[in-house]
Amino acid sequence: MLKLFDTLSGRKRGFRPLGGRFVRIYTCGPSVYSYSHIGNFRTYLFEDVLVRYLRYKGYRVKRVMNITDVEDKAIAAARREGVSLMALEADKIRAFWRDFDSLGMVRPDVVAKASEHVPQMIGLICRLCRKGYCIRRKDGVYFNVRRFSRYGSLRHLGGGRYLGIARNEDYSREGAWDFRLWKKWTRGDGETGWDSPFGFGRPGWHIECSAMSMHYLGERFDIHCGGADNIFPHHENEIAQSEGATGKKLANFWLHSRHLTLGKKKMSKRTGNVLYVKDLLGAGAHPGCIRFYLLSKRYRTRLDFSQAQFERRVCACERTGTILGQLRKIGDSGGNGMAGSKIAGRLLSAFGKAMDDDLDTGRAFRAIFSAFARIEAMIRKDKLSREDAKAILSAMGRIDSVLGVFGGA
Ligand SMILES: [Zn+2]
Repeated sequence: MLKLFDTLSGRKRGFRPLGGRFVRIYTCGPSVYSYSHIGNFRTYLFEDVLVRYLRYKGYRVKRVMNITDVEDKAIAAARREGVSLMALEADKIRAFWRDFDSLGMVRPDVVAKASEHVPQMIGLICRLCRKGYCIRRKDGVYFNVRRFSRYGSLRHLGGGRYLGIARNEDYSREGAWDFRLWKKWTRGDGETGWDSPFGFGRPGWHIECSAMSMHYLGERFDIHCGGADNIFPHHENEIAQSEGATGKKLANFWLHSRHLTLGKKKMSKRTGNVLYVKDLLGAGAHPGCIRFYLLSKRYRTRLDFSQAQFERRVCACERTGTILGQLRKIGDSGGNGMAGSKIAGRLLSAFGKAMDDDLDTGRAFRAIFSAFARIEAMIRKDKLSREDAKAILSAMGRIDSVLGVFGGA
């Protein structure tokens, strides 16, 4: 049985969909005020593998991903660059999909832009106000965190220990922990704004994901994913908003991937400590090998990028590709077909065991590489027949429908 580490309960739990064989997943997408870096793509790739593995196991999956195109940073960047918000973002969105596709990721079933779902956000804020969760201030509407007793549960901060942690423009000055649901228009917002019962303005960042996830997936769904930096405050606030409005548990599982660091530091566009997908592709790395590198450790394990380690892993990946090529060329001589089906069976079972253990892609790759060391020796000794090769290639084809590393092996 597939087990996944659920951040909310703080442990691995057996996964069962809420409704039959159908799995509904919401994944937080990019903010498009700047280009997404390879650290962001580690998260999108983990989500890609999660969706592919669920499909491999015979589940039907609906994945929704949002695009945050209305938020403080984007509006500030557009003003700084003297362009319209749309013009600033169009270029970043194009680049995002170019990188997304170049890594062979399966596009989400629904891509939802925040700017196209403002009525749903307004509706959700009205619902929260009716239930007494809103505080109206002169600059907008805020969520009254003290009214929601489970606040802090995702980050395991009970008893008000979250107080004072969240301090940025999203939060109220009067109560530093009350976060913004609706911001009234100010000159800094330029042409961005919508009419609402709370005045002309725009939604806060957190309400966007609550409104869009429930719009497409219902008030309860199976899995909510994101990067570890989304846990607090973004996902904590999503829980407060959605569960405050519905009284139901929003997601059955909360999955978070760890950062990809560079020089042991978090990638940051601001400090220039950053690497983009195009940098690695431009250096001649095969997209499959970039996928392998990003998946070479389980999504919850920290991965620190170093050029030397990256090159070593690319070599290991290419070596397996070469052996797969040799398997395809095997003629009729040698072997009896038995060895191949045995190896294929073992490969599939080791892969399934590793992936069922909270998507341990690192362990899955170790099993593949050690099997391929033996396969290479058998090819050298002419111990594999065409039938053997066919069985191994077919198993690798199934495995690679999830990993997407070996080029449709
Ligand atoms: Zn989100």
